[in-house]
Amino acid sequence: MTLQGKRAIITGSNSGIGLGVAEALAAAGADVVINSFTDRAEDHALAADLGARHGVTAVYMAADMSQGDACRALISLAGGCDILVNNAGIQHVSPIETFPVDKWDAILAINLSSAFHTTAAALPGMRAKGWGRIVNIASAHGLTASPFKAAYVAAKHGMVGLSKTVALECAGQGITCNAICPGYVLTPLVEAQIPDQMKTHGMDRETVIREVMLDRQPSKQFATSAQIGGTTVFLCSDAADQITGTTISVDGGWTAL
Ligand code: NAD
Repeated sequence: MTLQGKRAIITGSNSGIGLGVAEALAAAGADVVINSFTDRAEDHALAADLGARHGVTAVYMAADMSQGDACRALISLAGGCDILVNNAGIQHVSPIETFPVDKWDAILAINLSSAFHTTAAALPGMRAKGWGRIVNIASAHGLTASPFKAAYVAAKHGMVGLSKTVALECAGQGITCNAICPGYVLTPLVEAQIPDQMKTHGMDRETVIREVMLDRQPSKQFATSAQIGGTTVFLCSDAADQITGTTISVDGGWTAL
């Protein structure tokens, strides 16, 4: 299956799941725009390397997904897109009474509002072409909750609701919008949670991974960024033309419990 001639923008894609999605889309022939808020030589080198390996055009564009204007500017500076993957995300773990307000605001802005802004900016171009794919990287926490993750769970549930709404507004126009709900994927975001979880639960690293993180993941295996990439490519295929407004869990059975 080829996505040759399609331009994909993947927000928050200089590491982790976003990078895995960019790799998979490029391997399927799409031109890709890699994004994060930094503007370092290594970010641009990452895109150049990816493009060279897959024989596609790959560029890095810095834009801070916590800022609505920057989200919209990313889409217009890229010249629009056929495939939009809203992936940028951060996490903070704290009981709700002491949850820092600035962390709440940042998580809602980056994990949820950014998708509102990029989608609003990308849709006119997709409608003009009569084809588009919007893939929102939500989470098992878009369907279930865990303690100490108030902002993240609220934002991810919001991402699922946003996906359904956009799907309805685009139904029958060649444009689909879905949310992928990964369970735990071992990425820098998850690595960064381990010390907090060790402190909160008073456990060592291995025990936190086995008993806290993978406790609800019956496979007892992390999902991989490549698997989320493969699921994204599937959602961009003709086979997924009538899949819209729904969620696909890649969670080792978490939400079957
Ligand atoms: P990660 O930290 O490796 O990647 C997050 C990406 O977002 C990075 O590229 C980072 O630079 C970018 N980012 C952060 N703040 C940004 C900002 N203000 N502007 C632009 N980019 C910004 O984490 P990850 O685990 O790969 O997470 C990617 C997405 O997948 C997130 O939305 C996360 O919630 C979701 N997710 C992750 C897991 C998991 O277990 N890792 C599970 C379910 C969902």
